[in-house]
Amino acid sequence: NSVDFVEFFNKIIERFEMSKSQKVDFVRSMPNQEIFVSIDTDKITQVLDNIISNAMKYSPEGGTITFTVDIEEAANQILVSISDQGVGIPKSDLNKIFERFYRVDKARTRMLGGTGLGLAIAKEMIQAHDGDIWASSVEGKGTTIYFTLPISEEEQEGDWE
Ligand code: ATP
Ligand code: MG
Repeated sequence: NSVDFVEFFNKIIERFEMSKSQKVDFVRSMPNQEIFVSIDTDKITQVLDNIISNAMKYSPEGGTITFTVDIEEAANQILVSISDQGVGIPKSDLNKIFERFYRVDKARTRMLGGTGLGLAIAKEMIQAHDGDIWASSVEGKGTTIYFTLPISEEEQEGDWE
């Protein structure tokens, strides 16, 4: 199922924007063109729902969440990132957050709820789409989750016809 990722992503962001009760600002940085990816939209919606809910969950009052999409032509993929200005994740935990049931601070995360499965599922789904997913973070400053998805050739208009 080939979709314009920019349009697809914006719809998901708008859904969060409408329903949020928290004071957080959303900033978007996306290409000014359609960019087709071949995805299971239900699964990638689930991936984005979890990453964005995490970002909201760990954001301070008045924090900014930044959504970006970059086209990496050489690798024929898009790079998607979601950044927050929340508590951050210690370096030693950065890979572990993609493991099942792993949660950084037991006391803190128990209070905030959740099972610790969201990112493990996200990783499985992104890998099933031939993408990668990883995190970078600075404690006390914020966290960025990145993932890639291959650009689908077939649906791009033009040059070979
Ligand atoms: P679930 O998603 O199943 O409801 P969860 O959100 O705790 O539970 P994951 O989404 O897998 O589980 O995240 C794993 C852990 O990684 C979290 O418990 C939290 O400790 C840490 N984490 C994830 N995203 C962020 C973030 N944006 N900022 C700070 N910590 C994060
Ligand atoms: Mg989660």
